[in-house]
Amino acid sequence: MSTAPTTPGAGRYAPSPSGDLHLGNLRTAILAWVLARRTGRAFHLRVEDLDRVKEGSEQRQLEDLAAVGLDWDGEVVRQSGRGPAHQQAITKLEAQDRVFECYCTRREILEAPSAPHAPPGAYPGTCRDLSAAKREQGRARMRELRREPALRLRSDVTSWQVQDLWAGEVTGAVDDLVLQRGDGVVAYNLAVVVDDAAAGVDQVVRADDLLSSAPRQAHLAQLLGLPEPGYAHVPLAVNAHGTRLAKRDGAVTLRDRRDRGETAEEVVERIGRSLGVVGARSARDLLDRWDPATLPRHPWTVDLPD
Ligand code: GLU
Repeated sequence: MSTAPTTPGAGRYAPSPSGDLHLGNLRTAILAWVLARRTGRAFHLRVEDLDRVKEGSEQRQLEDLAAVGLDWDGEVVRQSGRGPAHQQAITKLEAQDRVFECYCTRREILEAPSAPHAPPGAYPGTCRDLSAAKREQGRARMRELRREPALRLRSDVTSWQVQDLWAGEVTGAVDDLVLQRGDGVVAYNLAVVVDDAAAGVDQVVRADDLLSSAPRQAHLAQLLGLPEPGYAHVPLAVNAHGTRLAKRDGAVTLRDRRDRGETAEEVVERIGRSLGVVGARSARDLLDRWDPATLPRHPWTVDLPD
């Protein structure tokens, strides 16, 4: 159940600094900003730098977001600086006996027979209820592999429901998801929940490749006693073949477009057209003129001149 906020909450954009933002990323960022500003919410930026970091990428992303007209409240948060809060959340779950060590390799998980009625790809439960002796064996094996055991959630639900602005009521699988990886890095699903709540984020706008993660995240929030946010997942940007847009698709970033003589305003105009708004030159114009109810529910096919 969502807890009704007493004050307008916040929206956010949370890029991974793994390269320049392409037009699909910028479109999602603009929509996150518009939805937040339109509802009187604050807007935060969080750099999700727990892995996949490319040198210099954070600065370039922030410059590009400013160039299309976004502003944000407060300091930019770096996820790598939030370790103590992430650990506190794991400790809280441990106190509820909801954490277990997992010694499985990725291959073992894929090859294990799945439990009846388990969603495809769900963790088969191998390490969930091991005896103390078996756990010792598992730890010894981890020492040989020079790895830490992963930490997983002992989940007592198999699905959870969230509300999405465009997709409506979405029910998705929840399994014994990873809380901390074998390399000691806290899992994305945990970090995102802890960091959103700490920033007062109650509106999560992002690309819809993460829609299936939302039920897991909302369930984690509930277990941690944190309010579950509302979601708004934006259809992905794709290339002419219908595949998710990527750097290899050519001149797809703001910087590429500028190198070809386009201005940031012209790039925003393209993004606006994909939303049915003609002549928008900045995020501000979209704030004034775009109606969220009209968002195309299919992927945005990005068709750019070379
Ligand atoms: N950092 C993720 C990405 O860049 C987004 C995570 C989120 O918005 O929850 O794909």
